[in-house]
Amino acid sequence: MSKIDDIMKDLVIANRILANEDVVDAYGHVSIRHPDKPNHFFLSRSLAPELVEFDDIVEFGLDGQPVRDEKRPLYLERFIHAGILEARPDVMAVVHAHAEDILPFGIAAETPLRPVIHAGSFIGAHVPVWDIAETFGDSTNVLVSNIEQARDLAKKLAGNNVVLMSGHGFASAAKSLIEVVRMSVYLPRNARVLQKAKTLGGKIRYLSQGEIDARNKGYSPYSTETWRTWEYWANKCGCGKLLNRPDGGPIYVHEHKHK
Ligand code: MN
Repeated sequence: MSKIDDIMKDLVIANRILANEDVVDAYGHVSIRHPDKPNHFFLSRSLAPELVEFDDIVEFGLDGQPVRDEKRPLYLERFIHAGILEARPDVMAVVHAHAEDILPFGIAAETPLRPVIHAGSFIGAHVPVWDIAETFGDSTNVLVSNIEQARDLAKKLAGNNVVLMSGHGFASAAKSLIEVVRMSVYLPRNARVLQKAKTLGGKIRYLSQGEIDARNKGYSPYSTETWRTWEYWANKCGCGKLLNRPDGGPIYVHEHKHK
């Protein structure tokens, strides 16, 4: 199997995991940069992530347009991926979703979303909030429907890992697909814990910068701990057979788990 085939399989797994872990529903999407052509990326055609198969994946340029003739409908918000991948050469994969637990932090922007649980550390100490109305006025449909809006969103993301989109959702970015999926699964969980803690009252104990840095130190998508989540979630959503790992490490495929 070629490297591109393996990346396609990983992208199918990523779509299914995000659906199965309730990060996306009919809406939301995940992309990966082309490993050999940094100005291209892969993203599904317009389809609920739960249903994405190998043949649904389309190759795009950083203008958000498909590089080959494509008749099938595409995600309106594919520009989010183009804008972030254009602005951040260090980023290899992007998720956009509307997970409900993060939405309060996008509209009550004076209450910042910050890491409070160890698995939430990867969202980083600062999670900026982007309000489309700040640049584009109060008559947009709130969706990112062109490259100018996406570039503005990417500017707000800046060097951070996650940007909240006011009244809409979030975009997350990482240096690998496994990392961006893992971060996007734990982002709503971290938000839920933080919001619950706030209802208890009193001072919130956030993760410190030192704790966040310590978690990031030596982080690798194929380390035993990180692979464990990817392998588990992939099997849980019936994609164990698509698993592949370039480091040649062991892969567990749950033979009895079929969706
Ligand atoms: Mn959206």
